[in-house]
Amino acid sequence: MAVRSISICGEAVLDLHALNNEGAEGNALMTRMVDIVDGQGELHTVNAISGDMLKHIQAEHLYHHSMENGLPLCGACRTFDANRICADEEFTKHPEFTKETPDSTILSAALHKCTLDDIEGILITSEIGKSRSIARKSCVEFGWAVGIPNATRTESYFHVKYVPEGRGKGSGAGENLGQNIFHRPASSGVYAIVLNMDPMRVGRNDISLDYTVDAAGRQARIKGLIESVLNTFVRLNGAHRNTQLPHLVDFRGAIVVSTSSLPAPSLSALNPEYREQLAETCKNLNRLRDQASLTMTTFDNLSEFSGQMADLATRSDLAE
Ligand SMILES: [Zn+2]
Repeated sequence: MAVRSISICGEAVLDLHALNNEGAEGNALMTRMVDIVDGQGELHTVNAISGDMLKHIQAEHLYHHSMENGLPLCGACRTFDANRICADEEFTKHPEFTKETPDSTILSAALHKCTLDDIEGILITSEIGKSRSIARKSCVEFGWAVGIPNATRTESYFHVKYVPEGRGKGSGAGENLGQNIFHRPASSGVYAIVLNMDPMRVGRNDISLDYTVDAAGRQARIKGLIESVLNTFVRLNGAHRNTQLPHLVDFRGAIVVSTSSLPAPSLSALNPEYREQLAETCKNLNRLRDQASLTMTTFDNLSEFSGQMADLATRSDLAE
């Protein structure tokens, strides 16, 4: 039974991080704050880490995995170029592509050539025979990591760049010269995490719905995807890690795996009963099939999460 979809919902306890900032006002760095509504309909403003940041971290882990394990990468992704295959001239200027070449053929060629374009998604807007706009939807989706109200705080800390020669002579012109003072945020809290993976879409053309990549290739790419999601929590990359490496204190939650067209359900940890609700939902959805196709496991710490993800990544039936 091939693994078709996976959802992970959880709570990460993360202390003293500044992973995600939205810019500076004067000499104060501002962290990302978002408005959310809890299960009782109450509005809260909380610190958050964007899904873009989390996905960037995961993509970087997948890049390293692909390089190490010889999974195919296009010329641009070999240097982790954010433009992906659109910046690979060997692809965009391929002599076999003319203005008559169907979009589905170009998309198949892109998926075949590159694991990152396949799994992370891409909008191919390059001039390939003619102007085109071919969308490849990502096979992995991250929501914001959002602070649970009353369990998340952000404070601002004062820093000085100490320069004995330039003491008192900060230029004030925004240049990084002389002795400068600045304020930097640090946030601590419990963050609700939601993410989905769609292994069934790995290597599959979005237009023709045919598999472009063979089963062995898909198996290797799906393994890389699951491993990169695990590594996202093993090593959180992001901003200001040289002096504010986040303390990951705990990680608990649930993993749901679906081996049928029933989607792996997802419920945010902003709802304190999310694990009980998810277990009941899986039970109810499983009644819709002769054979149970949804499996849910819960984890109470990083070691349990890593064990369950390693079990999942090393399944032999990921692709078929
Ligand atoms: Zn690529």
